[in-house]
Amino acid sequence: MPPMSAPDPLHLLQHVFGYHAFRGEQAAIVEHLIGGGDALVLMPTGGGKSLCYQIPALARAGCGVVVSPLIALMQDQVDQLKELGVAAAFLNSTLDQDESRAVEQAFVAGELDLLYVAPERLTTPRFLSLLKRAPIALFAIDEAHCVSQWGHDFRPEYLALSVLADEYPGIPRIALTATADHATRAEIIDKLRLASASQFVSSFDRPNLRYTIVEKKTSKDQLLTFLRREHEGDSGIVYCLSRKRVEATAEWLRSKEIKALPYHAGLDAEVRTRNQTTFLREEGVVMVATIAFGMGINKPDVRFVAHLDLPKSIENYYQETGRGGRDGLPANAWLAYGLNDVIQLTGMIESSGAPEEQKDVERRKLEAMLGLCEATACRRQTLLGYFGEEAKPCGNCDNCLNPPQLTEMTEAARKALSCVYRTGNRFGVGHLVDVLQGKLTPKVRDCFHEKISTFGIGKDLDEASWRAVFRQLLARGALRVSPDGHGGLELSDAAKPILRGEVPLFRRARVEKFHYHDKNADFASASDRALWQALRACRKRLADEQNVPAYVIFGDATLKEMVHLRPADHYEFGRLTGVGDRKLEKYGDDFLAVIHASN
Ligand code: ADP
Ligand code: ZN
Repeated sequence: MPPMSAPDPLHLLQHVFGYHAFRGEQAAIVEHLIGGGDALVLMPTGGGKSLCYQIPALARAGCGVVVSPLIALMQDQVDQLKELGVAAAFLNSTLDQDESRAVEQAFVAGELDLLYVAPERLTTPRFLSLLKRAPIALFAIDEAHCVSQWGHDFRPEYLALSVLADEYPGIPRIALTATADHATRAEIIDKLRLASASQFVSSFDRPNLRYTIVEKKTSKDQLLTFLRREHEGDSGIVYCLSRKRVEATAEWLRSKEIKALPYHAGLDAEVRTRNQTTFLREEGVVMVATIAFGMGINKPDVRFVAHLDLPKSIENYYQETGRGGRDGLPANAWLAYGLNDVIQLTGMIESSGAPEEQKDVERRKLEAMLGLCEATACRRQTLLGYFGEEAKPCGNCDNCLNPPQLTEMTEAARKALSCVYRTGNRFGVGHLVDVLQGKLTPKVRDCFHEKISTFGIGKDLDEASWRAVFRQLLARGALRVSPDGHGGLELSDAAKPILRGEVPLFRRARVEKFHYHDKNADFASASDRALWQALRACRKRLADEQNVPAYVIFGDATLKEMVHLRPADHYEFGRLTGVGDRKLEKYGDDFLAVIHASN
């Protein structure tokens, strides 16, 4: 039951959640909601959206009702809140009738601080009548972009949530999303009737993510090198385009002694759930997945997100990489891409049967994604620029850390374009490069391409360099993959000024240098490292006892503080980030004993 006088939000932050101060817009949002206002919150993944409604729900009288689209996510949030001593519960299809009844009763009796509900449950007549009887502090609509019919997470049940605006005009509503684009924002405001809500828009930058985009050669080996050098024993996600590739990659990684599991929509629901649980519960598991995996994965300590295939758009890339480093500690976003990705994705767009306008949008999105891959300036600048945000060079992406050498390619580009033209706008890159390099392959002979003027005019460049030239031209829209689905290239209007030699063009010279993050550098000494391992073991034991993921006990950031600060008593332990009153009481002695033993 909430106390008679509303508790102070900062006091709640410190004593319940164990954090020292609000971050960014959190304080303003919390205050606005406690004051009874509606809010639309746009904040990147890991920005700290949950506190924005959890604290007002505790501060206001009644229960905070949270609409959340994913069962796994609800479970996770409720586990975490219970650990903090908050009276939280969820209502979804995993509960049987008796369990549901018990939650409903507690809700109506005013015994809950927070109730998580699936959207389809919320709008049932039964639940709507419960709402009439229960004391309500606020409504929070999480993952609010699910209301967008154009987005890939569309949930029709979200549309019905406008009922809350009609039926409960006096109760504050807060909608939250990490989706950055303006169209989605407008749709949320419209569909959820939030026209008069205050908007809180944070920067979409994720400074702890390091972006690296490499040219695909032997992608699996490149991935393995990356994992071995930077992520020994870490949890992470590897995204692949197809189910087949997911399976093959997971199996191959396992043969290299990496704990990899597959996840895609074609697997049995049971296998999927099992793999997801293993990923959440065990340390050092690499999930190899299609994009079917990810939304609602709250795991804060995902240390890397690797893409073995090119995402379809910058939006996708941003959302998928955003699943790394939610805990604010360093994480890697690594992508390997090649020309074939572009051809394959274009083929998928062309053969999709979608209306022409939609195809056009998809083509442009793919082109922007390719532009990001080919960018020679700061990746973060390019990425944020796409979402309309200005930024300085970040110092934490491959291009900043290791500025690419640029090579002039104006002349090479003209040769490539005229080769496309002379061969009739219909051949794929492999053949075009053969013609440019003057190779007498059977196909060249069959087409009499040894007779055309561009035959052999490109002997000065090797095949990889030619491929880089073609990628640049695709990224700039001077070439298009033709819609017939055979991967042939054709000129577009943007090719004209290049053919006339009016635009100077550059490509990145191929240098591949990793910037290793030396994990040992996180700790000053062997004894610190040993303590870190001992604390992790303690955390794992406690988590297993309660059947929750390790991060529900304490996040890595809290464990690292334990190593660095070596708290000696309850007072010092209680001052660590992430240690609230309840966790101090519950776990203080266990962890202090580990720390004492290592001193
Ligand atoms: P989002 O839902 O926006 O992705 P979360 O609410 O899950 O983000 O928060 C991300 C992480 O940041 C969590 O581990 C959370 O506990 C932590 N966090 C949020 N706010 C603060 C804060 N004010 N101080 C310290 N840590 C915070
Ligand atoms: Zn940068």
